[in-house]
Amino acid sequence: MRRLLALLLTLPALAAAAPAPAGDDGPTLNIVYLVPTDFGPLPGYRERLGKILLEMRDFYNRELARNGSPARLRMPIDPETGLVALEEIRGTRPLSGYPYEGGWKAALPEVQAHLEAHPRPDRSDRTLVIIPTHKDKPGVPFYGLGKYCFALDYEGFDYKDCGQDTPAGAKFKPWYGGMAHELGHGLGLPHTHATRTQAKTLGTALMGAGNRTLGFAPTFLTPGDCAFLESSPPCRVFAPRPLRKAEGFAPQVRRWQGTVRVSGRLPEGCSVRRIVAAYDKDDFGGVNDNYDAESFVVPFDASGRFDFAFPIGEIHPGRTDKLQIQLRLIHDDGTIELIRRAPDPEA
Ligand code: ZN
Repeated sequence: MRRLLALLLTLPALAAAAPAPAGDDGPTLNIVYLVPTDFGPLPGYRERLGKILLEMRDFYNRELARNGSPARLRMPIDPETGLVALEEIRGTRPLSGYPYEGGWKAALPEVQAHLEAHPRPDRSDRTLVIIPTHKDKPGVPFYGLGKYCFALDYEGFDYKDCGQDTPAGAKFKPWYGGMAHELGHGLGLPHTHATRTQAKTLGTALMGAGNRTLGFAPTFLTPGDCAFLESSPPCRVFAPRPLRKAEGFAPQVRRWQGTVRVSGRLPEGCSVRRIVAAYDKDDFGGVNDNYDAESFVVPFDASGRFDFAFPIGEIHPGRTDKLQIQLRLIHDDGTIELIRRAPDPEA
C-alpha cells in the first residue's frame, strides 16, 4: 500500500525533555472513526474495531518484545470493556466526499479540528483514521500520510474471522493486515522486505507483503521496524532529547568485496538514536518501490562512528544491477532524516 509524504504536516518543536513514560504510561495513538453524513456508523463498530485494534496492538507489542525492544505501542483503552477506545467524529461530507484518491484532503482538516477541540493529556501526534464504507465497494482513503494513516470499516468486519479459511476470512484478511500495515506507516515505518533468514524463520514482514498475511500466516516486525517504533511517540519509553539534526553528515557508501559498506560518523550533539540501512534494488524513489529492500540496524559507537557491511548472503537478488542504499537517521523525537546513495565503486 502506498505511503505519501507529508507535505503539510510539520513537526511540533519539542520544548524540554519530558519525563520518560513507562511501557503503558505515555502518549497514546489517536484513533478516530469518521462518519460520513450519509453512511454509518456501522453496527457494533466499537466492539468490533475495539477487539481488532486490541489484537493489532498485541501483535506490535509481541514483536517489539521478541526483538528485545522496551518500546510498547499504546492505544486508548475503554475502562468498561477493556477494548481499544475509538473517538467518533461526524464528518461534513457524504461517503463519496472521501474518495480513495485525494479523500484525505477532505478528512484531514475535520480530524485535526476534532483533535484540537478535544485536547487530552495522553494524546500523541499520531492518528489512525477509520472511515466506514460499503463491504464490496471500499473506495475510501487507505494509506499512510505522514503522522496520519487511513483504514476502513465495513459491516461485519470482525476479528472472529481472523485466520479462517472462509469467505468472511478472505474478506477480513487484506483489511486487517492492511490496517496494521498502514498503521506502521503512520508510526514512521517505511516498506521493507524480510532477509533470507527472516523469510525462512519468521515469514513475511508486515511492512513488506504482510498486509496480506497478518493473522493468517507467520508475519513479523524486523529489528529495523522496531528501531523506528522506539522513537515513535505512541511507543516511546524514554525522554527524548530536543531535535538536533545531523548537519553535515557525510557517510561513505561504497562497493566492497561483493557487498556494500557504509561508514562514517554522526555529527557531534545530534539527536540521532538509531540508523537503519536499506538495500533497495531495481526501482527506487517512488512510494511503492521499496517493498524489496532488506533493512538492517547499523550499530554506532559512543562517538557516533559506524562501519557496516551489508550481509550480502541475507539479500535477495534484484532483477537488475540498479541499487540504492538508503540510510535513515532516526531521531529521539521520531523525526527521520533520509539519505539516498548509489554506492561508489570499490576503491
Ligand atoms: Zn505501504
